[in-house]
Amino acid sequence: EHIDQCKAVDAYVKQHLIPADKGLENAHTNSTKNGLPMIAVSPIQGKFVSMLTTIGSARNVLEIGTLGGYSSIWFAQAMKGRGKVTSIEVDPHHRDVAIDNLRTAGVQVPEEVDVLLGAGLDVLPKLAAEIEKGEREPFDFVFIDADWENHWNYFDFGVKLSKGKGALVYVDNTVQNMLESGIVGTNEREKDAVDLVAKVGRDDRVDAVVMQTVGAKSHDGFLLAVVK
Ligand code: SAM
Repeated sequence: EHIDQCKAVDAYVKQHLIPADKGLENAHTNSTKNGLPMIAVSPIQGKFVSMLTTIGSARNVLEIGTLGGYSSIWFAQAMKGRGKVTSIEVDPHHRDVAIDNLRTAGVQVPEEVDVLLGAGLDVLPKLAAEIEKGEREPFDFVFIDADWENHWNYFDFGVKLSKGKGALVYVDNTVQNMLESGIVGTNEREKDAVDLVAKVGRDDRVDAVVMQTVGAKSHDGFLLAVVK
């Protein structure tokens, strides 16, 4: 019953605050048609994270985990005329579908969204080297939404690749992972569970919080860190 109420609130909010957008809707339907899993952010989450880039006047967004480009389209729309999105995806099929979806949504690839093919931990050191050499601008917003085991490493890279003070690092599905891995709650704790929250708490480079959320996607929440 509670989840039905959450869904109803999401639907009402979507109806009034998130106008239908052909490009975003196509990204969903075309991704499903091409066999991609339904694990993109919801429209409300997409709008929320893209608004964070507007609030922070972000010029360079880094996304880890492109899938079908649904969240990338949200970022691109918010960044229009102000900056660019660099998104990393390990699966070539996902990358191809994402580029297709981005172009259908009127997003210029690679000028507005550049999708880099490869595993996060292979691509991120290359980006770090380019930033080091001055060939690439550092990032002011980092959105982490890929394989959970590596999220601490992605977080660490996110801070290193950021412009520094005031940059934001956002980690999606943090609460879901805390619950599933037994970090909190009743599940038996996984030995290898990466306790991102504890590590971030010990990290002097950032100030962070975890915000729990409910909605069409049930109980979850994100971690948001600001670089000091
Ligand atoms: N951000 C997307 C959205 O909201 O539209 C959803 C991303 S989905 C939750 C996670 C994606 O991360 C999948 O497409 C998966 O193939 C990709 N992925 C998994 N492991 C990865 C890795 N090691 N490096 C880069 N991408 C990876």
